[in-house]
Amino acid sequence: MASLWFERAWIGNRWERGVRLRIADGRIAAVEIGVAQEAGDERHRAGLPGLCNVHSHGFQRGMAGLSERRSRPDDNFWSWREIMYRFLDRLTPDDVAAITAQAYAEMLETGFTRVGEFHYLHRDPVGAAYADPAEMAGAVARASATTGIGLTLLPVFYAHGNFGAASPSPGQRRFLSNIDSFAALLDASRSKLAGDANMGIAPHSLRAVTPEELAALIKMSPAGPVHIHAAEQVKEVADCVDWSGARPVEWLLDNAGVDERWCLIHSTHLEESEVQRLAASGAVAGLCPITEGNLGDGIFPAVDYLAAGGRFGVGTDSNILVDAAQELRALEYSQRLAQRARALLASEEAPFVGANLFARALDGGAQALGVPAGLAVGHAADIVTLDFDHPSFAGADDATLLDRWIFAARTGAIDGVWRAGVKRVENGRHVDAEAIAAAYRTCIARLLA
Ligand SMILES: [Zn+2]
Repeated sequence: MASLWFERAWIGNRWERGVRLRIADGRIAAVEIGVAQEAGDERHRAGLPGLCNVHSHGFQRGMAGLSERRSRPDDNFWSWREIMYRFLDRLTPDDVAAITAQAYAEMLETGFTRVGEFHYLHRDPVGAAYADPAEMAGAVARASATTGIGLTLLPVFYAHGNFGAASPSPGQRRFLSNIDSFAALLDASRSKLAGDANMGIAPHSLRAVTPEELAALIKMSPAGPVHIHAAEQVKEVADCVDWSGARPVEWLLDNAGVDERWCLIHSTHLEESEVQRLAASGAVAGLCPITEGNLGDGIFPAVDYLAAGGRFGVGTDSNILVDAAQELRALEYSQRLAQRARALLASEEAPFVGANLFARALDGGAQALGVPAGLAVGHAADIVTLDFDHPSFAGADDATLLDRWIFAARTGAIDGVWRAGVKRVENGRHVDAEAIAAAYRTCIARLLA
């Protein structure tokens, strides 16, 4: 049994001093607080639980930095989506495994220990089914095995091109399912899961799923996470109102039985009544501030939502830049820029922004991926250690430690990451980073040739 001893560790969403974690079979077997270091303990200065990344499209890491060129005066989310569709046109399962592994290694290096993969690339390049309907899910599972990151697989149901069961576009041919083929996809995907991987479902959006299909999907997966994109774009909200008379989040709250199982990805454009109702529903808002900024989506009303007790997790979505601390920083900064004020995502009870954001993203992220949160007996040994030699931690006290990490440290503030008790990151680098990056470089060079 391995044992790690920390000067301080984040237990029950606060710092405790003199903490020993005993690890057996990938899980935390004991948590001892207020104890001295003993022979045989591996010593660290500060230990955190790993965060859940609630929303990723792993393959999109391969086009990071390739869509920043202005191609027309009205470049926006929809023109970006056309570039993304062209990029995925030729991807093979091996390409998806190589690109996704690079994204997952970066996630581990920056403090994410589990990823919710919103997986929609199911069909071959001409839109035909693979002999194994879960061929691509298998590629995602291989990336998880290669890197060691925990996996919550969220197979996506995608059937239509817009509200009202509009026909899909040619660019969407690799995503498509009907209810029968999706049932087969779920069955086949389940066989790809290893270790403590779990599975939910992801109706892509109200653009891609009819109300009848949504009801059938929920029946198909009576337990486990349900993720859906909602209200990311103003045009999407307007189209939804045209179609149904309601806004996307409003429609889901009225019609879909949104509860603790649900994670509404983005939920960017909300009216005040939707903010209050979503917070009260117990669902998680899956916020992806870096991607939302990159795509020009808009600003989530986080101040009001958190004040209403709303739950959230963070996701890296397009994987344009993978970094847990930077997601939390971007979330706070988006609010500051919009409201011209400081220290907004905090409260009287939790005045330090970094600690508040970390605690809430930890709990909300775990809920969204259907796993328990934090360092506790029986939970997966998913642990992150901070490098106290990093200048950002000079003279650090407990109160400001997470602020220093989230707001003031560049990359390199994390030194070790254990996932299910296995050390995957040492000195800030994934132990297999070179091999993973080499496979990634080969793949991208061929795709762009
Ligand atoms: Zn997404």
